[in-house]
Order: sequence, then C-alpha cells, then structure tokens
Amino acid sequence: MASTIILVVFLVFFFLEYSTDLTLTLLNMSYIRKRAGTVPPVYRPFVDEATSLKAAEYAATRSRFSLAAGGFSSLVVLVFVLGGLFGAADRLLASFSLGLYLHGLIYIAGVSLVFSIVGLPFALYGQFVIEERFGFNKMTLGLFFKDRLKSLALSAVIGVPLLLGLFFFMEKTGPWWWLLAFGAFTLIQFVVSLLYPTVIAPLFNKFTPLPDGPLKEKIEALLASLNYKVRGIFVMDGSKRSRHANAYFTGLGRVKRIVLYDTLMKTLTEDELAAVFAHELGHEKRAHVWKNLIAGLIGSAAVFFVLNLLLPWTPLYRAFGFTAPSYHALLVLLGLCSGPFTFFLKPIAAAFSRKHEYEADRFARQALGGDAAPLASALLKLSRDNLSNLHPHPLYSFVHYSHPTLPERIAALEKPMK
Ligand SMILES: [Zn+2]
Repeated sequence: MASTIILVVFLVFFFLEYSTDLTLTLLNMSYIRKRAGTVPPVYRPFVDEATSLKAAEYAATRSRFSLAAGGFSSLVVLVFVLGGLFGAADRLLASFSLGLYLHGLIYIAGVSLVFSIVGLPFALYGQFVIEERFGFNKMTLGLFFKDRLKSLALSAVIGVPLLLGLFFFMEKTGPWWWLLAFGAFTLIQFVVSLLYPTVIAPLFNKFTPLPDGPLKEKIEALLASLNYKVRGIFVMDGSKRSRHANAYFTGLGRVKRIVLYDTLMKTLTEDELAAVFAHELGHEKRAHVWKNLIAGLIGSAAVFFVLNLLLPWTPLYRAFGFTAPSYHALLVLLGLCSGPFTFFLKPIAAAFSRKHEYEADRFARQALGGDAAPLASALLKLSRDNLSNLHPHPLYSFVHYSHPTLPERIAALEKPMK
C-alpha cells in the first residue's frame, strides 16, 4: 500500500516537472517566434535584423531539440520505473553472488552506462547537426569520442573510491554514517576543486599563460590598481571544440585561475577583454567560489540526511521494483528519480547565480573607474556571436537563466553608481 502511494507521488511530481518544462519551453518558443527579426534597442549598435532572425531560429531549434531529448530520457526513466526494470536487473545481478561492494559498483556503473548510451544519439545530433548548422561546431567525431572516454575514465577514477567509501560508511559506521559519508564526500570535493585547474581541465584543453603585450599590461595595471595578485591568467583553446566564446574563474587558494577562451580573444578589443577579466575577478573578490562551495555543501548535507532517513524504508524500494533495501538501489534512485522533486529548487539557484553576476558586473565597473562602456560592448558582442536569444520569455529566463538577460545587465550597468 505504502509503496503504491510512493509511486503515485513520484508520478505526480514527474508529470508536474515535465509539464512545467514543456509549458515554459512552448511559451518561450512562441514569444521568440512573434518577435523574430526585431532588435531590442539595447542591441541595435551590434545586432542587425538578419542576426536577430538567425538567433531566433537557433533558439527555436535548440528548444525543439531539448524537448525531444528531454522527453525521450524521461520516457526511458518511466519505462524503467513502471516496467520494474531497475529491480529485474538487480535480481539478475544478485544471482552471481558478487558480494555487497562489487554488486553495488557493477549495478551503478551498468545503469549509468545504459543511460549514457540512451543520451548518446542526442549528444551527437546536438553537436554535429545543430551546432554544425549554425556554424559553431569545430569538433571532429574523433575528439567527441575521445572526450567521452576521458570523462568516463575520470568518473571511474573519482567515482569508484567514492562509491566504495559510501558503501563502507553505510555498512560499518552505524546511525551516524551519513555525517561521516558527508565528511568524506566534502573532502573529495575539495580535492577535486584543487585539482581541477591544474590536473583535470588540462586533460581536455590546452592552457597557455596570457602572452606579454598590451592586454597583459592592461590587466596587470588593473590588478595593481586593486592591489591584488592573480597567479594565473590563461588562454584556453576553446576553439578546438566550438566557436562559442566564454571566460571563467576557477580554483581555490593558490591555484586560482582566470581563463579566457581563445575565441573570446578574437572578437573583443583589449579594453573589452580587460572588462571581461574584471568581471571574472569580481566573482573572486566577492567570494562567489566559496559561497557556491558552501551552498553546495549545505545541499549535500541535506541529501545525506534524507538518504539516512530513506535507507531502511522498504516501501520506497518496492515502489521502484526492488525487492529489499540496498545501498546501490538508494543511490540509483537518488541519481535518476530525485529530479522531479528538486526541479522546483532550480529557480532559487538561478536567482542566486544572477545576483552574483550583477555583483561581478558592478565590481568590474568600479575597477574600471566607473566606465561601464567596455563591459557593455563586450557583453553585446558576446551575445551576438553566441547567437543568444534576444527575446527570452520572462518566466523562462526566471526559471532557467543563470545570468540576467542582457537588457537587464546593461540597465544595471547604466544605473548611477552609489
Ligand atoms: Zn559572471
């Protein structure tokens, strides 16, 4: 009885998530269609009518694609849940009597593999058909699969010890296992954050220190005026995969880095690049990396606490086709079936991220002596070159956008400084 209720509650949330997403996307698509070809005033010096039409088509194509891809993966999850396939696979594996740890590892690896194979045709289509058509793709099939294999190897290197550790804590450490597991998880997260800039990211891209020249001089002058040192300013060969341009801040403590994509360097002037740099520096100076890390830790502590409550609850496992509670079943349910319950937290995370973007923009303007023009033109050029949607539906951007829309950002930049 209880397991039927659990299943019904899951299905209700599942359809709620799907229909919300569908409604938002359709709203957004019709909003774009009605405005395609028009250029909002703030974009006018940079974006012409033809680009606006192309951006609208790009947004519509990506929306249709995400509906198809998202719909299909939801359908597969549903087939697995309602068809009892999670439990059937588990029972089949149990017949080999592999022992708790090996069984758990193989089960989780197998389920992850199945779902990544299901997503593969969509990933290929997105990259080699859609991105290609709009002139963004620069990846070869060889590089695509090489990336996949590297990511797989990386998840094995990080995931296997993590899973074994989790199983160990669940089995051996009594009622406080979840706190110990959380501690170990946090430690691994810190290590990964520390290793990311110097060990993990270079597996996928080449990072070269920003060469000497007028840009470097500008940035160094900016850093000196802020009395601040950043050890690493790097240029990344983003162009080997895509024409999309970006910049980001990464790392903690001594391995802090600001990374500019080579694609960014091609289109922006030195003043604009310095402004983008100042924005990224703003993320660091306003402690956004730490804040995100701490928010992530609070989130994962909550997840471990909930897992602890759910671990012995047999009806939960029955609802999803398992015979009895097991560690690996709980982790698979967390990975594949918790989405509909956490989906509604997404707008909160997006709102925090947008707040950080405003703060970084404000910092950049102050650092540049109050001059907002280079940052504004950099953002407008980036938006044009990335074919960003000029007409997002307000509800859609509220839920999905990690950055404020461009008109919002420019308006905030143009407000008088306090
Ligand atoms: Zn930012």
